[in-house]
Amino acid sequence: MWACIYDCSYCLLRGYQNLAGIVIPYNIEDYLCDEKIESSIKEFFNFKRIGSGEFTDSLIFGDITRFSTKIIGYFKKKNDIFFEFKTKSANIKNLLESGGKENIVVAWSANSIRISKANEFKTPLIRERLEAAKECALSGFSTAFHFDPIIYYDNWKQGYRETIDMVFDTVPNYSIQHKVDKSGIFENAVGTENGY
Ligand code: SF4
Repeated sequence: MWACIYDCSYCLLRGYQNLAGIVIPYNIEDYLCDEKIESSIKEFFNFKRIGSGEFTDSLIFGDITRFSTKIIGYFKKKNDIFFEFKTKSANIKNLLESGGKENIVVAWSANSIRISKANEFKTPLIRERLEAAKECALSGFSTAFHFDPIIYYDNWKQGYRETIDMVFDTVPNYSIQHKVDKSGIFENAVGTENGY
């Protein structure tokens, strides 16, 4: 899919996607074949990784497209590949219906509460994302958290620390910890910006 309706002020898609609407492919089955997946996989250290959410939010239209159901069904049979849904959404009904597996990672974008309120205009609240993460963890998915962008402001450290504390207070830690131990890739994604 391409384009997103969450309308974050810092969204890079605004800069290079010249779209007046949302583009949703109807032929996702054509992408979910071994030949196409193998040619798209990136290898980090000793494991294979692929994901969605580079050009839109992975779950934002999940209740309409049901793409996540098809993706989960495919990757549940691929134990050696990690699939990552990048999202800010709490639209997880399809995921809970499908049930998770360790190699399927739901990765939420998070930020300090102040930055989120001021810049993520139409997204679920951080608290709502973390509750969704908890439900997914309990359903068997791995979870991850991207802090991207990290934006500098007075007391930024305190603001980000509070969100990190909320993550570990809300989401079953085993669902996060495993990936930190294994590679550090999923949890440690950060981006920085100055001047907020
Ligand atoms: S959720 Fe992601 S893709 Fe959607 S507007 Fe925000 S930054 Fe852009």
